[in-house]
Amino acid sequence: MRKISIFGATGSIGQNTIDLIDRQPSAYNVVALTGGANIEKLAKDARRLNADVAVTAYEDKLEDLRAALSGSGVEAAAGQAALTEAATRSADWVMSAIVGAAGLQPGLEALKQGATLALANKETLVCAGALVLETAKRHNARLLPVDSEHSAVFQALVGEDIETVERIIITASGGAFRDWPLRDLANATVEQASSHPNWDMGQRITIDSASMFNKALELIETKEFFGASPDQIEVLIHPESIVHSLVGFKDGAVMAHMGAPDMRHAIGYALHWPERQELPVERLNLAKLGQLSFQEPDEDRYPALRLARNVMERGGLSGTVFNAAKERALDLFIARQVGFLEMAEIVESVLNRFETSNGLLDAELNLDNVLQADHLARKWASEAAIQKA
Ligand code: NDP
Ligand code: MG
Repeated sequence: MRKISIFGATGSIGQNTIDLIDRQPSAYNVVALTGGANIEKLAKDARRLNADVAVTAYEDKLEDLRAALSGSGVEAAAGQAALTEAATRSADWVMSAIVGAAGLQPGLEALKQGATLALANKETLVCAGALVLETAKRHNARLLPVDSEHSAVFQALVGEDIETVERIIITASGGAFRDWPLRDLANATVEQASSHPNWDMGQRITIDSASMFNKALELIETKEFFGASPDQIEVLIHPESIVHSLVGFKDGAVMAHMGAPDMRHAIGYALHWPERQELPVERLNLAKLGQLSFQEPDEDRYPALRLARNVMERGGLSGTVFNAAKERALDLFIARQVGFLEMAEIVESVLNRFETSNGLLDAELNLDNVLQADHLARKWASEAAIQKA
């Protein structure tokens, strides 16, 4: 039996992971399941899967979790320290599906135990790419991509020599507003930004898809994961979300990965890797689809992409700052305190403030400095929002 843990088990990726585990319960021994506010879901799954421990990120939810687990034999724990502790428990395969930079520390801890880390949490690589890769290497742990684009690139690279790669093309649906005129975007509401045309995902990544901040994070994730240079990475708008990404080689050949827009493709690939196993996903019928379309992104429409390109060139702690400022700007948008287009303005102003504060972006990329830069970037994003109000 494989020992597995799922961080962010109550979320969209977590639930899709559990769906796959549920189909072969005798193959897995569940060590830890973690969640946040959704105690009922966490306790229900922990009971059914007979997990060793269930952890909520919030200390004030411990009593509720204990009550929901009473008599089950599943241990209850709460808080940041408990999340990290759960990641030290020996597991063969760990799903990293917490949303946001909160996923970084449990992921690092799992790598230190030598686990295979299936990485849905792209923020881990955006915030601390070099640190994460170095930790994996030092502890002989493996990172597998779960983001659909990165899983697609990873699969297109099987058996290929990385030196022969000319370019990596990550596709983007364009999100909820792809057909909106630019002048209407300033007034886009949280409800409008929270519905995705093709993918069923958590609210934060759905809004990030509408603003292209998700694709911006994925550009940085691509650079970190595959060691590609920024000018090798392209973004291509592909409204149907059937081609999940492409790799171009030096002989001009391009390998595309296709599939229905269902995250169980990428989760299942990471779960069964290096094998392929049958997955309960819809089979593609290209004749029925008839045609697929592609267009170049307009970077005026999507300032997040331009900012991500600056971050890739800048390096240092700029990825940490970019992500943290974006997370705070998104909190403020969801709280209806800033407008849709103001999110990118806030992130840009925080990056500029760091750039002009001597040495802040060039501090060593270690966990303490990452956490400090993350904290300061959130504070400065709040200040930038107040200045706008
Ligand atoms: P969801 O919002 O659906 O789920 C997030 C999970 O993290 C939930 O279990 C939530 O708990 C938990 N959580 C929230 N805040 C915290 C915190 N501060 N500390 C610890 N746990 C917390 O997100 P998704 O599943 O959509 O996304 C998860 C990650 O995967 C993100 O990094 C996203 O970018 C990435 N991803 C997602 C895709 C998708 O299809 N959904 C596709 C590709 C990547 P609770 O709900 O109980 O409060
Ligand atoms: Mg993606």
